[in-house]
Amino acid sequence: MIHVACKQHRELKVEMIKNGIVIDHIRPRRAIDVLRILGIDGSFGYALTIAMNVPSKHIGRKDILKVENRDIDTNEINKIAVIAPEATINIIKDHRVVKKEKVTLPETIVGIIQCPNPKCITNKEREPAESVFLVKQKEPLILRCKYCEREISSPIMLS
Ligand SMILES: [Zn+2]
Repeated sequence: MIHVACKQHRELKVEMIKNGIVIDHIRPRRAIDVLRILGIDGSFGYALTIAMNVPSKHIGRKDILKVENRDIDTNEINKIAVIAPEATINIIKDHRVVKKEKVTLPETIVGIIQCPNPKCITNKEREPAESVFLVKQKEPLILRCKYCEREISSPIMLS
């Protein structure tokens, strides 16, 4: 079940879960992309809470994601860094935050982002190359396609 908290819940209290992950400080409207990175869809059998566009002291507005009974690995954290560079990951065990980490951007991003250049070999209809982007600059974010050298600042995820 997905609970979506809307803008009008200005004082949204994020209730703790027993075990799982809480991803905080996700850029507004990016929570859905984070869910896709985690491979979570409607068939996910545990509690899932998405709060979107809630006020944030740090980044103006933010999304928050709480996922019960789910762990997270470094590969997933790296992917999340691409679309939510300010995100913090809280690992919850027995209602307590046992680990808190900030995402860090990897130097190379493989297979997550779509190259906007239609002529790029990663967009070929037949046997396209796997998308590879190099991080040219972190703040603000600039990524460069390894193949066609197209530069992007707001990545679009591969569908
Ligand atoms: Zn390209």
